[in-house]
Amino acid sequence: MNKEKSYGKSTACVHSGNYKDEQEHGVVTPIFTSTAYDYENVEYMAYPRYNNIVNQRVVAEKIKSLEDGEDAMVFSSGLSAIMTAFFTFLKQGEHAVLQRDIYGGSHHALSRECEKFGIELTFVEGYEKQDFYKAIKENTRLIFIETPSNPLLKIVDIQKIAELGSQQIVTMIDNTFASPINQTPISLGIDIVMHSGTKYLAGHSDLSCGALISSKDLMSRIRETAISFGGLLDAKSCYLLERSLKTLDIRVKRQNENAGELALFLEDHQKINKVYYPGLKEHEGHDVAKIQMSGYGGMLSFEIEGDASQFIGHLQLIARAMSLGGVESTICLPTETSHSKVSPEERQAMGIQDNLVRMSVGIENSQDLIQDLKQALEKI
Ligand SMILES: *Cc1c(COP(=O)(O)O)cnc(C)c1O
Repeated sequence: MNKEKSYGKSTACVHSGNYKDEQEHGVVTPIFTSTAYDYENVEYMAYPRYNNIVNQRVVAEKIKSLEDGEDAMVFSSGLSAIMTAFFTFLKQGEHAVLQRDIYGGSHHALSRECEKFGIELTFVEGYEKQDFYKAIKENTRLIFIETPSNPLLKIVDIQKIAELGSQQIVTMIDNTFASPINQTPISLGIDIVMHSGTKYLAGHSDLSCGALISSKDLMSRIRETAISFGGLLDAKSCYLLERSLKTLDIRVKRQNENAGELALFLEDHQKINKVYYPGLKEHEGHDVAKIQMSGYGGMLSFEIEGDASQFIGHLQLIARAMSLGGVESTICLPTETSHSKVSPEERQAMGIQDNLVRMSVGIENSQDLIQDLKQALEKI
């Protein structure tokens, strides 16, 4: 597709990067399953771990255009993408500054692996530019944020954090919760965008993948590390991801809409103590979200009056599950899932109550979701 920039997001979802099938003239990218290719041109050896086979290139191209980047690469999971980026820009004796409440799996993996290799991490408690700035040291090489964050949907001002980047320091964001439909951090000055594609990008709770998007220059460095680590995505999964991305815009828009309606319903319900959703005027990050997001996303959380575990047990339509971003609504208790390994005292300090429920809103009819929440609330 030419002149991509002039097209809207939905058009880019459908058309960007698509493979032109000169032979059979089909409109869909064929799946090239080969792992062995004639090396007629010795300059260009196609091989899956090099991330240069057709299906990998095509889907990366689509993601790149959605995130306004210059280059992109897909991985076998979000964690594979994060670890590859960290080990590209950090080496022994260097330092990274991170938001404290990043995704639990990222927090755990980075703490564990970076320490082993002599890379120091500082987890910042606040959410302001100043809080991050104060943590920067002479050997800082990377700043990592996640907004909206899990599970309290905290908002960090992306543009302000991007200003902390320099020749020495790359800035990176986990954009999983927002998806490129609601937020494009590269256009706000961030260097590297990361996704757990397992969530909104794939969107159907049936595919594990990840992505990194950045400039040509930074991606060429990332690519070398990626080839060493080998977290590639095979052709069939790339095809599935490409197919999913065609509906990303309409899925996310519906999820935004549904989550907004549910937030209003929950806010008014007498058995709900508090609702966390960046689209609500009362949300502490609303003003910043309004500027940097074009939609408020499909994730919300709320504190209920009563036993949260019992409440989700009464739900009939909304499934109890840990993952998120699928077409089906799912719900979980952070104390039982993402934050089960965090001590009760620390959870308290983070503002995560035992009665906190986190919901990933799907594309169902909002009235059916509201009805399900209503009947379950009546039973507690
Ligand atoms: C799930 C998730 C990850 C990790 O991605 P995987 O695909 O499970 O490796 C990272 N960040 C966020 C925000 C996530 O939701």
